[in-house]
Amino acid sequence: MSAKQMQLVDLGKRSGLKVYPVSIGAMRLPEDDEQSTALLRQAIDANMVYIDTCRGYPDSERKVGLALKNGYREKVILSTKWSPWLRKIEEDDDASADCTYKRIIESLERLDVEYVDFYQVWNIYKPAHFEFATRKGGMVEGIIRAMDEGLVKHTGFTTHDTPRNVCRYIDRADWAEVVLFTYNMINPTYKELVEKAHDKGIGTIVMNPMGGGMFTEESPVINNAVKDSTGIESPIEAAHRYLSGDNNVDTIITGIAKPSDITSTIENYEKPTMTADQTAAVEQAMAEISKENMGFCTNCKYCLPCPAKIDIPAMMKVAYLARLLKVPAKAKAEYSWTVNPNNPDCSAAPDQCLQCGACELKCTQRLKVMQQLKYIAENISEPTEK
Ligand code: SF4
Ligand code: SF4
Repeated sequence: MSAKQMQLVDLGKRSGLKVYPVSIGAMRLPEDDEQSTALLRQAIDANMVYIDTCRGYPDSERKVGLALKNGYREKVILSTKWSPWLRKIEEDDDASADCTYKRIIESLERLDVEYVDFYQVWNIYKPAHFEFATRKGGMVEGIIRAMDEGLVKHTGFTTHDTPRNVCRYIDRADWAEVVLFTYNMINPTYKELVEKAHDKGIGTIVMNPMGGGMFTEESPVINNAVKDSTGIESPIEAAHRYLSGDNNVDTIITGIAKPSDITSTIENYEKPTMTADQTAAVEQAMAEISKENMGFCTNCKYCLPCPAKIDIPAMMKVAYLARLLKVPAKAKAEYSWTVNPNNPDCSAAPDQCLQCGACELKCTQRLKVMQQLKYIAENISEPTEK
């Protein structure tokens, strides 16, 4: 049990780069450009130097680009990503080398940089995506073309696929220098794959360290389980110490929306890592909690848009708060705000669901969305007047 500290480690052997154990997720930056720039620079000054952005995160590339002026570009490892199956920019976008190359140029313009350190294939969540990316004339070829021209330095992929499929991708992706996947103490499904990728020299980057918000909700169920199994009072601290204890994880992506997201994560990384006994105990405790096997919504929003205009990730959160975390008052408050005409993004009520199933087909975590909507309609919401 030692403190991990903010010390450089290899970002996999293949890339030849080094990274600090806590990195920047640029998905939820502040609206205001000045605040966003100040926040990103605060994180970079604190040695969070790997930045994960994406062509599909609204305005993130532009905001990151603003923060990287005045000498900050040289301090960071800048990574962006895209795929046509998640975000078509133009109607005829496809997974061809030409289209990918075009999107890379566009990202460089949005970021206002000469090159990116990483350009990744964004979210391979079924074998067809891997084929689209790797076939002759496919995405990887477009990325390699940009690498030959010095516009991109390294590449890799992100994934939400089944462990079995991801295992195959890791075996076949000799071009990949990093892989980004979900891993946290309530969802250790990819734990062995993190080890496998690490052993192959692929840099391992972990997203969703907070279990899609599970550990930030002050749930008595989570609090007690974490405390009883590890002796650690704060689930957030435990979640960080769980990951800092896994030497196969090179870095974690921390979504930054406010200054304390930076300071508290780094503070936790300076505390002792979890022991093997604590790790086993907390995994057992989390498995007990998730017996209902609801799966975990990562708030990735790939299920949207919904034809009935239901805010599916928000409704999944309502279901978790009520069913899993047992904080019904919070569940009702979350529901009342989301399905509320005063909310500019007011969502339709769950009993408006058309049962079309489109969300379940697109869901990266293969969640039973319709079942959860039914639960909310029967237990939390008022029936919609028809
Ligand atoms: S099944 Fe319901 S929630 Fe899912 S996309 Fe269709 S209408 Fe929307
Ligand atoms: S329901 Fe599935 S696709 Fe939608 S946000 Fe949650 S995890 Fe992502």
